[in-house]
Amino acid sequence: MKKKILSLKKVKIETQKRQINILKTVVEDLINKQSATIIDLLSGNKNVNEFSIAKNLKLTINQTRNILYKLSDFGIVSFIRKKDKRKGWYIYFWTLNTHQALSLLSENLNKKLENLKNQLKNRTEERHYICNTCSIEVNEETALLNNFTCPECEEVYQLTNNSDIIKDLQNKINRIEKEIEMVSLEKKIEEEKINKEKEKKRKKFETEKKEKRINAAKDRKAKKLAEEKKLSRKKKKKSPKKIKK
Ligand SMILES: [Zn+2]
Repeated sequence: MKKKILSLKKVKIETQKRQINILKTVVEDLINKQSATIIDLLSGNKNVNEFSIAKNLKLTINQTRNILYKLSDFGIVSFIRKKDKRKGWYIYFWTLNTHQALSLLSENLNKKLENLKNQLKNRTEERHYICNTCSIEVNEETALLNNFTCPECEEVYQLTNNSDIIKDLQNKINRIEKEIEMVSLEKKIEEEKINKEKEKKRKKFETEKKEKRINAAKDRKAKKLAEEKKLSRKKKKKSPKKIKK
């Protein structure tokens, strides 16, 4: 039993590590490598004080805010702000939106994939010519227009060896497809987490509603009882008079 819990914990930590690495690439793409540390600070935490983020990144508060604002433009982070009563200014607290970051990443990867697939199609279906002296490559149409001779140096064009390029493109496509698969898996894990939290909230709401209903019913019953007592007391007071009549 203990072993099982330990291994579950291990899986959880590994999942988090994997996710952190993936999310770092998102920040790297959007801003720069240095800023990617922000993921370490936000991952697994909610409402992180921006001053502690700045301190950890060794940046000024304005530089830190600029990064965070940029990320929030993409919906990757969100904030709440609280007024510092003593100083009178607002402090922002930041939370990572993992699901949105993963969505953005998979969007970007799909764009890259599409681009690579177009290149592959182009390389498989069309011939290309190159001037080896100038290292300028042209497509068949341009080569034909130039009479298969480089207009710069008058060298005769050589047919490009597309097979190496095709191999390279296919490797890149395979890699990106694997990445997309991995990201979509992470997205699913995140969605399950979100759904679990939603379900928890819903259940809590239902229980509170039920409790309120029960309490209201109790109140009504107590009120009714009190009124009945009052009424019976009045009757008792009146009844002796009736006997006198
Ligand atoms: Zn040339």
